[in-house]
Amino acid sequence: SDTVLEINHLQTYFYTDKGVVPAVDDISISVKKGKIIGIVGESGCGKSMTSLSIMQLIASPGKIAGGEILFQNKNLVGLSKSEMRSLRGNEISMIFQEPMTSLNPVYPVGKQVAETLLLHNKTMQKEEAKQKVIDMFKMVGIPEPERRYRAFPHQLSGGLRQRVMIAMALICRPKLLIADEPTTALDVTIEAQILKLMKQLQEEIDTSIIMITHNLGIVAEMCDYVYVMYAGKVMEHADVFELFDHPKHPYTEGLLKSIPRGNVQQNKKKGLYSIEGMVPNMLNLPKGCRFHPRCMYAEDACREIEPDLVDTGDGHMVRCIKYK
Ligand code: SF4
Ligand code: MG
Repeated sequence: SDTVLEINHLQTYFYTDKGVVPAVDDISISVKKGKIIGIVGESGCGKSMTSLSIMQLIASPGKIAGGEILFQNKNLVGLSKSEMRSLRGNEISMIFQEPMTSLNPVYPVGKQVAETLLLHNKTMQKEEAKQKVIDMFKMVGIPEPERRYRAFPHQLSGGLRQRVMIAMALICRPKLLIADEPTTALDVTIEAQILKLMKQLQEEIDTSIIMITHNLGIVAEMCDYVYVMYAGKVMEHADVFELFDHPKHPYTEGLLKSIPRGNVQQNKKKGLYSIEGMVPNMLNLPKGCRFHPRCMYAEDACREIEPDLVDTGDGHMVRCIKYK
């Protein structure tokens, strides 16, 4: 099948002293082979918790309370730790916002990438692994790759560290790469280079990517399909052109209105979008539509009834009372 990942009705809940936080609340997402999908929303909307759920890295008091995550038809929910370890970094890998936290400060970066490769290829010789890492360093545009192989993380710039992380994520040629705000910590010029590189590599390796971001400019440049999340729910889902040309959910509309025209770099300089009002308290969600306190179209029914996600045609899905 051409579907690499299929998430069905995933619920990731946090059981805190103050109550249950439905961080991911019944979402379904499908990732096709060789495509880049975007998950977009403000911080706290559940997009990072979705990616950590896929990686089976949700820590207590959080847990997956329902649903399934099918990766090549295998349900990752409930997979043993060792089965998951053999997939992670190998068939599914992830890059985060801050590479410093995922690199070990006391080991040369090249060695760390080689270890990922050796972990998943038990018969590979060290010399061969080293050569493959140096080739990958070249591929991700790290200058003087032999010298950088021996460098420690603190000896590299933020941009080079992120390239090392991309090299590590791709060294086993994963089927799925999850990139969670991969460029947010970088300056705009480096950001543009890293995004271009990711797109290039995605085409060469034919990896599917889940791009998690709060930046719609990045979505427009990178993604084929988009899921807009709000307060743990998918509010809208469509093909990227359709979403930008015909946004249907008032939240998406607000997101789009608040990005200035222009490219990603300009948007970043001018500041990111903002919609009036605050994201809801996840311990005390508004009744009815979760977006109603911030929605300028809200009517009485919106304060009572939680709308379903409905197909408005051609797979353009919207969760709003205006579309029944
Ligand atoms: Fe706005 Fe009502 Fe639609 Fe929610 S359901 S987005 S409050 S119009
Ligand atoms: Mg996040």
